[in-house]
Amino acid sequence: MATQTQGHTPAVSTELNETGSQMYQLMGELFPLCRSITGDGLRESLRIIQKHIPLELHEVPSGTAVFDWNVPKEWNIRDGYVKAPNGEKIIDFKRSSLHVVNYSVPVRAKMPLAELKQHLHTLPEHPDWVPYRTSYYKETWGFCLTHRQLESLKEGEYEAVIDSSLEDGNMTYGELLLKGATEDEILVSSHSCHPSLCNDNLSGMVTVAFLAKSLLSRKLRYSYRFIFAPGTIGAITWLARNENRASRIKHGLVAACLGDRGKFHYKKSRRGDAEIDAAVAHALKHCGEEYVISDFTPYDYDERQYCSPGFNLPVGSLTRTPHDCYKENHTSADNMDFVTPQSLDGSFRVYSAVMSILEQNKKYINQNPKCEPRLGKRGLYGAVGGKRDANTYELSLQWTLNYSDGQHSLLDIANKSGFRFDIIADAAQRLLEHHLLVEAGA
Ligand code: ZN
Repeated sequence: MATQTQGHTPAVSTELNETGSQMYQLMGELFPLCRSITGDGLRESLRIIQKHIPLELHEVPSGTAVFDWNVPKEWNIRDGYVKAPNGEKIIDFKRSSLHVVNYSVPVRAKMPLAELKQHLHTLPEHPDWVPYRTSYYKETWGFCLTHRQLESLKEGEYEAVIDSSLEDGNMTYGELLLKGATEDEILVSSHSCHPSLCNDNLSGMVTVAFLAKSLLSRKLRYSYRFIFAPGTIGAITWLARNENRASRIKHGLVAACLGDRGKFHYKKSRRGDAEIDAAVAHALKHCGEEYVISDFTPYDYDERQYCSPGFNLPVGSLTRTPHDCYKENHTSADNMDFVTPQSLDGSFRVYSAVMSILEQNKKYINQNPKCEPRLGKRGLYGAVGGKRDANTYELSLQWTLNYSDGQHSLLDIANKSGFRFDIIADAAQRLLEHHLLVEAGA
């Protein structure tokens, strides 16, 4: 087994730490907005992301049929509060977008506490947290508050006001296509519909935004499609409108829950043996952080649309702690303190490593397959100083030469040898320069 080279040069990690801080800063800018599956909060969030990448905003009219679904009415909210019998505003949407049930219909009414309570949501098991609640498909209204506050409410007449509208309009989603040398695409998708919640889903949005930003000025092999859409209905809508183009997607990831302190979790594509599954497994093995890899399951995020049997796209889901494995999820505790710039930075780094592998992962054919070529006379031996590095370098050349038979990709060779992918990719580059390899099928 060859020695594995791990770690990063200081110059690279300084630059990436800066990326983590910038991601955290963008998250702070997006945090207060009241996103939903439609409406101005979602639109405004995508416009903020447009300051970083040239995202195209699409508007799909309410009622549009998308496979078995219809685009819902557009919801907008301006204000929402509850006034206590003494006239004091005790619940106020302007303090946190979580205080109003997402998609609440308008209300302006006075009522006794018992009646109000039918519209109040709390988390008795976490009495200081405010829950996140939605009611997309049933027209109702409600408020969310801490259980401690609920228990302190006195009998009397309360006033409930929600200044919202639910009417025909549009559903917005954002899309960016970066054109590469081929029309084959890499899809990176993030749901973008949660209000003031950080890990689920702002961390996914900022990771995708910064990944796209980092690729903007690069010469690319693949075309990249970045999608910021409301969960479920957004991905369904995109697939319905792009049914004929979906087969161009050769690799894909669904991004969410990428800012918490937990280990990485990769859920494989439905295919299970797609190149994206191998690329992510390799990037995680060499990322220096803990990780778990599991098989596909048809729930969680939009992988369940991309991997529905009629599409079965090679799309996996790369997160940190899965949404159903941390108690803060869908509560006010999923806030700016729950996520860290370091975790975001590490997530960005792994996503970048995956893309770098996919970009360079090709198959080659050894042009001197009968016994090994003389590397010394080509200046390919001992070219790098430091005994261990020189050894790594020479072994990487031998692995790459031996398995470049048109059957094994560079990623296969990296996995067989135990070397990190970029070391094998560098070896292939040197061998190409010396005409010892040619690209298979080229
Ligand atoms: Zn969620």
